[in-house]
Formats: sequence, C-alpha cells, structure tokens
Amino acid sequence: MPRGLLIVVSGPSGVGKNTVISNLFSYSPNLKYSISATTRSPRQGEIDGLNYFFLSDSEFTKRIAAGDFLEWAKVYQHYYGTPRSYVEEMLTGGFDLVLDIDVQGAALIKKALPEAILVFLAPPSLNELKLRLMGRKTEMESEIMLRLQNIDKELHAVPEYDYFIVNREINLTCRQIEGIIQSERMKVSRQAPDFLDKIFQDE
Ligand code: 5GP
Repeated sequence: MPRGLLIVVSGPSGVGKNTVISNLFSYSPNLKYSISATTRSPRQGEIDGLNYFFLSDSEFTKRIAAGDFLEWAKVYQHYYGTPRSYVEEMLTGGFDLVLDIDVQGAALIKKALPEAILVFLAPPSLNELKLRLMGRKTEMESEIMLRLQNIDKELHAVPEYDYFIVNREINLTCRQIEGIIQSERMKVSRQAPDFLDKIFQDE
C-alpha cells in the first residue's frame, strides 16, 4: 500500500483554514484530519476529541516529556501539539493526512518528515483578514491584537513552504489543494521502488 501524503496547512488566524479544511474532505475521500492537542479553552461549539484534545498545562507537559508529540509549539500563549502515533498510523495505512498547524510547527514537521507538503494560505489582503477576524467574534480584542501581531512572523516563514495559495473563494482553494495532492501523488520520487517493473514487465 503506498504511503499516504502528509499535507500541512498554515496561514494567519482568520484566513479561513478551518472552513477550507472541512470542505476539503468532499474533494478528497482518502483524506483524514490530524486532531491536535491544545491547552487553550474550547471556543463555543468546539468539541473535545473532534476539534482538539483540550488538555491542562500539566497533562500537556507530561505528554511532551513522554515524546507523544511529533511537534509542539507555543502559539498565542497556549501550547499546541501534533500527536505522533495517529500521524504514523494514518500514513502507513495509506491515508492522506491534513494538519492545521502554525509556521513553527510546520518547520518542525518538515525537519522530522521531509516528505511533508507545506501549503501556506494567505488572505486576499490584510484589511480583509482584519475584517474576518473581527467579524467571527470568537476572540477577545486582546486575542485579536495578538493574532494580528503574529502575521509578520508568519509571512517571513513563507519561503519555507512548498505552495502558496491566496484564499479568495473556498471552493477554488479546495480545488487548488486537491490539485496539489494529485500532482504530489504522481511524483516519481513517491512511487514504489518496483513501479516500472509492474508496468513494463512481460506478461
Ligand atoms: P486556534 O487557537 O485558532 O485554533 O489555532 C491557533 C494556531 O495554532 C493556528 O495557527 C493553528 O494552525 C495552530 N495550531 C493548531 N494545532 C496545532 C499543532 O498541533 N501544532 C502547532 N504547532 N500549531 C497548531
């Protein structure tokens, strides 16, 4: 069974990552979502074990020490981490896996697993991003400021990414990501060692 693809999606808070990722599943039936762990409190409507594994600071620290995370980072004063076992299980099971993680985490993933495909989602403009962040009313004013201050750092990380997409329209963005997935799957470097023999051997 060919190993699944590991697709990391990052981008500024408010760019529409969650919406894009949740729509992506109707384009890619082979796709699974890696549920991260975090120490931040759940937002309205978020469910433990579905959106995130919501952990206390001490539980998170314990899991870092146990080596349970493939990567972890402190983002906006909270800890976020990618559980290692699920990622390996899905990839060896042949499933493609999408990770919604910040730029620090993406760099760590690429180091640990150079096969990872890094996709950066950008807003059409900074103004539109501000409007989206204020409009979603899920963060307090101070949290919004923190997220806006982080954008510079995020943009500096873009050269480390493999793909850059401006999220103008959700369906278009999903089709573009699906296009990336299809192309990556056809890369010669991703084929099984005997892929030529299988096709060109005599009957
Ligand atoms: P939010 O609190 O808005 O859900 O996420 C805040 C930031 O944390 C986003 O940039 C998101 O991509 C990032 N994030 C979510 N999960 C992880 C993770 O497991 N690792 C890292 N490094 N960042 C994460």
